[in-house]
Amino acid sequence: MKIPFVDLHAQYHSLKTEMDAAIFKVIEEGAFISGGYAHRFEEEFKAYLGLAHCVACANGTDSLEILLKAMGVGIGDEVIVPAMSWISTSEAVSAVGAKPLFVDVDDQLLVDIEKIESAITAHTKVIIPVHLYGNPVNMPRVMEIANRHGLRVIEDCAQSHGARVDGKLAGTFGDAASFSFYPGKNLGAYGDAGAMATNDAALADVARMIANHGQKGKHNHLIEGRNSRMDGIQAAVLSVKIPHLDAWTDARIKNAAIYDRYLGPEISKPNIHSGKKHVFHLYVIRSKKRDALSAFLKEHGVENAIHYPVPLPLMPCYTSHPEQAKSEFPVAADAAGEILSLPMYAELTEEQISYVSSLVRKFELGI
Ligand SMILES: *Cc1c(COP(=O)(O)O)cnc(C)c1O
Repeated sequence: MKIPFVDLHAQYHSLKTEMDAAIFKVIEEGAFISGGYAHRFEEEFKAYLGLAHCVACANGTDSLEILLKAMGVGIGDEVIVPAMSWISTSEAVSAVGAKPLFVDVDDQLLVDIEKIESAITAHTKVIIPVHLYGNPVNMPRVMEIANRHGLRVIEDCAQSHGARVDGKLAGTFGDAASFSFYPGKNLGAYGDAGAMATNDAALADVARMIANHGQKGKHNHLIEGRNSRMDGIQAAVLSVKIPHLDAWTDARIKNAAIYDRYLGPEISKPNIHSGKKHVFHLYVIRSKKRDALSAFLKEHGVENAIHYPVPLPLMPCYTSHPEQAKSEFPVAADAAGEILSLPMYAELTEEQISYVSSLVRKFELGI
């Protein structure tokens, strides 16, 4: 049986008629950039989140960078980021001239909240918790630390559309949230797209200006900004998809439960603390023989991946002493050698999950 890691084709086919019509309409109207499509999606997405402001932009890396800039973060400042994330999280910090302060992760591979406080210095301005794999960080505790130290918080929600902590949506705890709609994300466009969301009107205002060349109205450049707009086709695609997001999320959660059941107690499965709604952007297991397991699954037609094989502070762009960095980030370094992401999407069937799980059990346990 051949099982892809993600199956964007299956989702497209379930929406084809409506999707094709929506895309053609944008082309017909020539509403490629400044049409009303991005604005419409902003309205829909802020309603979904229950936040006052949403600013659409070109991708989820830009949204992090623009939010940092809009908060006035720059040279000499520090921003706390987890050791385990996609590089955008730390890249955005460096891009505004600030320094990423890496903090090791906990047993869920999320930023270790116990270690945040000791990382804070007089130069620290912002904390960026990442809701990695769709598993939300314990935000009430992060906010308590941030408030005590006068720090601002940007939630990196690129992998966590619809996740919740104690019933409250990820992205609604911090000062602002950053979203990616990269095609493979839980809510994905047909190209690059991103968005910022916040209840802070002044912050949204500045972020919107930065994303559109610093303009307040046409040809009135109050500051220098950049070109980071969501294009009309991507916005129209997202508007077709957003009514389905909760059903897709439910299907991911159901599929994760099926994996849990078929993999059985002997396999190391996602670790989720109580009170969390994990939306399973990725379903990540651990194995002491990870590389061999990965190859075994591939031989049997099951695509799989590693998120991420090298923790950020061990990357060549951040250190020339990876061995020393390893000892500073032991939990992330350890996990990086064992984690394996199995196929996960709404359209997976029980039969496919059973097949993948039986291969994992066969390899790991010989049964
Ligand atoms: C995907 C991702 C981003 C960046 O999003 P792009 O739209 O690809 O720029 C940022 N942070 C995390 C954690 C991501 O997974």
